[in-house]
Amino acid sequence: MGYAIYCRISRDSAGGGDGVSNQQQECQKYADQHSLVVDHVYTDNDVSAFSGTTRPEFQRMLNNLDAGKHDGIITWHVDRLYRRTVELERIVNLVEKTGIEVRTLRAGNLDLNTANGRMAARMGAIIANFEVDHQIERMMLSQQSRAVEGRFRGGFVPYGYKVGNSPGSLVIIPEQAAIVREMARRILDSEPVISISKDLNRRGIPTQNGKQWRTSTVRRTLMKPSVAGLSVHHGKIVGTAQWEPIIEEEDWRAVVAILSDPARRTQQGNVKRWQGAGVYRCGKCGGTMITKKSRAKYGSGRNYLCGKCAGVSRNLDKVDDVVDSVILGYLDMPRNQLRVANREETEGEDLGKLMEERRHLDERRSRLGTLFASGAIDEDQLVVGTRDLKQRIDKLNGRISEVRKVSPMVDLVLAGDELQQRWRDMSPDIRGEVIDELVTVTILPTKSRSVFDRESVRVEWK
Ligand SMILES: [Zn+2]
Repeated sequence: MGYAIYCRISRDSAGGGDGVSNQQQECQKYADQHSLVVDHVYTDNDVSAFSGTTRPEFQRMLNNLDAGKHDGIITWHVDRLYRRTVELERIVNLVEKTGIEVRTLRAGNLDLNTANGRMAARMGAIIANFEVDHQIERMMLSQQSRAVEGRFRGGFVPYGYKVGNSPGSLVIIPEQAAIVREMARRILDSEPVISISKDLNRRGIPTQNGKQWRTSTVRRTLMKPSVAGLSVHHGKIVGTAQWEPIIEEEDWRAVVAILSDPARRTQQGNVKRWQGAGVYRCGKCGGTMITKKSRAKYGSGRNYLCGKCAGVSRNLDKVDDVVDSVILGYLDMPRNQLRVANREETEGEDLGKLMEERRHLDERRSRLGTLFASGAIDEDQLVVGTRDLKQRIDKLNGRISEVRKVSPMVDLVLAGDELQQRWRDMSPDIRGEVIDELVTVTILPTKSRSVFDRESVRVEWK
């Protein structure tokens, strides 16, 4: 048996003198000097200590240590090993359980077997947390100054553009810009978003990521201030960008006004009045449903009718009731909410991650209280820590509500107890979009025309 060397490269060490190969050499030298046998080197390559990415080799090392395969760890500095108090606690537990040794080249040996040693290590981890916070602050500040100067600040390149040669510049891609203008014009002509996304897919036009258009992609593409040549920071327009607009600002504002109204009740033009029209399918021929007045007195007195073969027709309100109960039942469950949040890629903003991060910050905030209660930190540290965390949680909430504005589905996921109400308040048009993103609804032919059979409405998850 021998020691495990653990190396980790992170953004803050890039360019510094402690790249992975350097870390490894130094650790090996240390081992030789202290006559320690090294039997494995674990290396993780994450971008930032805060990125939250799991470090696979770190996990593997802990498992092997737990299984008694090594005598201890040699690492360059404790900050290679852990940045978060949770990670430290795992190591503390391991030391208590197996009596392994943790040797660091830059911070001495961590004596995690004594209360004093653990306290020192914990303080170190708390300070490291603050350091990461400040790195993020610095990054945000530099992003903000770039945004104010109207330069592209990196991240997701908006559809219609590519990154230009000079730093912070964007250049129009003519073919994509034409699509953006077309989409905007169609929205201004009151065309439902769903028919635009379907049409683009039918024409074989890919999104920025080479994927199929979804209603949410259409919305997001059009709602980006960058397409109107505006520079944004934290969801706020901070100035004129240095790149060419694709749509005039005035037109863009009109498009945004239409798209951000969740209850687009306007009944003019082509805006849909029934959620299943153009969305539900015919079980006989696969065509899509239109609606038609019927003799039935129930609800709106309309039927869904196959627009292609006219061979299948069903009471409109009863079909909608079935579909609504499936959709709302699904969205009401937390597990599904997270699933939806995760699959809703929102340019540059990953909602699942945002929610996860907020949960993590909330946890940290409550942990600060515990540390204070146990005397591990003093009042000043508690006050500063709580204030910093609160600022970051506020910022996160702001970003989450931005995402919510763009995606009706996310809005539903976050509606909580108001789910039913939100659903009812949405226009049929937008309900149709949500239904179409989640499920395929097929109305099957039946023998009896007089009795409504719930089973004849087939709802399949996409
Ligand atoms: Zn049909």
